[in-house]
Amino acid sequence: MSEVFNFCAGPAMLPTPVMAKAQHEFLNWQGTGSSVMELSHRSGIYIAMAEKAEADLRELMSIPDNYKVLFCHGGGRGQFSAVPLNLLPTGQTADYIVDGSWSKAAAAEAKNFGDINVINITKEDNGNISVLNPTEWPISPNAAYVHYCPNETVNGIEINEIPETNGVPLVADMSSTILSHEVDVSKFGLIYAGAQKNIGPSGLTIVIVREDLLGHAQIATPCIMNYKLAADNDSMYNTPPTYAWYLAGLVFQWLKDLGGVKAIAKINQTKAALLYQAIDDSDFYQNTIDTKYRSKMNIPFWLKDESLNDKFLSESEAAGLTALKGHRIVGGMRASIYNAMPIEGVQALVDFMQQFEKRNR
Ligand code: PMP
Repeated sequence: MSEVFNFCAGPAMLPTPVMAKAQHEFLNWQGTGSSVMELSHRSGIYIAMAEKAEADLRELMSIPDNYKVLFCHGGGRGQFSAVPLNLLPTGQTADYIVDGSWSKAAAAEAKNFGDINVINITKEDNGNISVLNPTEWPISPNAAYVHYCPNETVNGIEINEIPETNGVPLVADMSSTILSHEVDVSKFGLIYAGAQKNIGPSGLTIVIVREDLLGHAQIATPCIMNYKLAADNDSMYNTPPTYAWYLAGLVFQWLKDLGGVKAIAKINQTKAALLYQAIDDSDFYQNTIDTKYRSKMNIPFWLKDESLNDKFLSESEAAGLTALKGHRIVGGMRASIYNAMPIEGVQALVDFMQQFEKRNR
């Protein structure tokens, strides 16, 4: 089979060396004669692996010591509930910045658990989309926390500047941007991310939380969503997603070997610039997001002649460029180019787009 480049938004492609290593040790992990997925999460050998994965993530993101790293179940949407349950005491309000479909969904879910102040920051002018600069966000000074999504996976909007919240804990859904570029973790109260884009397979969610925010959960918080319980039990209050945790560990090691987040950020910048340049150089394709807020991970683009969409998708698929169909909310195409997507994959897409344009002008 010739090489396939998978542009799926998630579950997304994983680094080939990671998959090869997982395959190699699948049936007999570290000489145990068992697969890692068959071992107790309480066995010494598993715990050593789990601790190394956490230590590697801490190193990759320079996570300060006063933050806990939790390996949770439930995906991004699980955190849409867990965040208000843990951080929003009865009688208080949380601000939710909405810049696309995932932050909108997070706000809608949070409303089940408390008083939510929705702040819409998207602006549309003649089909062109932008967002309000973070310095202009009308954040409430006494909010329990401010939630935002720095990279909107569906809409292709990325906010690079970390908002100043003047002491209000900042909560970020980094599902589709974590580990793609350096961030100063100390600016955040809590960061969460579903694993299935830049971390590993689905089934695992990473939560990075400042210690002083633990211990204030609403009484009705289910035990498996309680951050304090998770922290006090090293994310093993119940059986964690053991295989996903192991695979995440392999991805962290791969990223470290590559030179860490700083190194991958440069590659990500190059990949995104290559694709945006191809879109902008052509009047056949377009991307309508303000250039300052264009995502480097999820790049939506539209054919000006939408009647060619099906043809584009079937021919790109046949060329080994898979999962390019845009999200149903926004239509068009979307290329998700997370850490594991090599530059050759983006180049192959650009070449295909240019040839397709020539054939269909
Ligand atoms: N937040 C963001 C930014 C996402 O991209 C996604 C999934 N694509 C989610 C939340 C929801 O994640 P899950 O499907 O793991 O619940």
